[in-house]
Amino acid sequence: MTDFVLSNGLGAWGSPIVVVGILVLILTIIWVILKIYEKRVERTRPIEHLCDYCGHMVLAVSDCHHAPVKERFLHGICKECGRETRLVCEKCKRPL
Ligand SMILES: [Zn+2]
Ligand SMILES: [Zn+2]
Repeated sequence: MTDFVLSNGLGAWGSPIVVVGILVLILTIIWVILKIYEKRVERTRPIEHLCDYCGHMVLAVSDCHHAPVKERFLHGICKECGRETRLVCEKCKRPL
């Protein structure tokens, strides 16, 4: 791949339109991978977190009701009241 680009110099690969097209393609692929990863994270629950305070792998619970949460990135939805909440350790109830 690299040899091909080098030997062709400013051929088709040097054209700005092609470069932009490749960049857009790469960004699209990254975006799709992120979406797939996000869905997979959502499906494979419960997720265990490493608690900094008690040092164990623990399940996250909601800060408001200490109830199970629907986890999102860096926060969650409390299954008890349906509101956004911070994730806390199920054992020591400190923020994860
Ligand atoms: Zn803990
Ligand atoms: Zn709640």
